[in-house]
Amino acid sequence: INVLLLAGGVGGAKAAQGLALTASEQDCHYNVRVIGNIADDEEFHGLWVSPDIDTLMYTLSGEINTQQGWGMKNDGNTVLSQLQALGEDTWMFLGDRDFATHIYRTQRRRQGIRPSQICRELCTAFGCPLPIILPSDDCIQTRLSTDQGELSFQQYFVRERCTPVVNAIEFHGAQQATPTPEALQAINDADIIIFAPSNPLVSIGAILATPGLRDAIAKSRAVRLAISPFIGGRTVKGPADRMLLAQGLDTSPLSIASLYDGLIDALVIDESDAGWLSAIEQRGLRALAAQTLMITDSDKRRLMDECLAFVEQMEV
Ligand code: GDP
Ligand code: CA
Repeated sequence: INVLLLAGGVGGAKAAQGLALTASEQDCHYNVRVIGNIADDEEFHGLWVSPDIDTLMYTLSGEINTQQGWGMKNDGNTVLSQLQALGEDTWMFLGDRDFATHIYRTQRRRQGIRPSQICRELCTAFGCPLPIILPSDDCIQTRLSTDQGELSFQQYFVRERCTPVVNAIEFHGAQQATPTPEALQAINDADIIIFAPSNPLVSIGAILATPGLRDAIAKSRAVRLAISPFIGGRTVKGPADRMLLAQGLDTSPLSIASLYDGLIDALVIDESDAGWLSAIEQRGLRALAAQTLMITDSDKRRLMDECLAFVEQMEV
């Protein structure tokens, strides 16, 4: 059974980790692939940084700083402090060990290697248990129109700590971008597509903005399920709730159903939101209430196993 996960950064990596734990069982009949988000990518100090892909890769390979949920464990800030001493703007935290990833990626890009291939090389070097697929090898970047001007995602998220009001979201370069054959193939092969509890507007939104991918998912024969990133109308972490409100949407599970209209067959919501189940079912979706907060590895595994079991029982 081919399972495809659409994933952003932290929320996406938790779901990916849950699936990886299941897939690592000896008699597992799931073949799992992950499509990640490249639209938060940005250049810092001459290096190409791909935060969401790195979060996935570090999480899956056990290199993640578990306290932060991003960056590498056992890392330092010697390089960044020295860059600051040289007069560089250092609001984007990049660790010493982490820098090696960005140096490697940048060097390979300069050699003309396809970003998908570079991602494969990094995943192999890190011993990543699941393949991470890029939506496109072209550059797609999230641009936010805010009350404080136009910002890149990292400028908004890290430098401005999500305080600006986001009026509009644009995926710069998306229109001219080509999807990777790997992403189209993964969607084509999928029996189950899971939308991780990632930011629907930016993380998943950017994947869906890649030409061809939204269409392929809409037409897919796979059973498609989304996990809500909201618990009690709030995000676990990050600005997705504020961003939805600024777009005139509410933060109920129904908003997730609307945002993914035509793309999903089922929606998994938190058990504390169980009151929404019948409203979701009235929309023609299958709905399941589960404990969706993932802190420990066993939380991640249990939720993803519940999602897989729910989908398999739907197929019958
Ligand atoms: P980012 O790229 O690091 O911002 O991460 P994502 O886009 O993948 O995920 C951000 C979303 O993940 C936020 O809206 C959070 O509410 C959601 N999230 C994070 N942890 C959890 C969790 O344990 N359970 C659920 N349901 N959502 C989570
Ligand atoms: Ca992100």
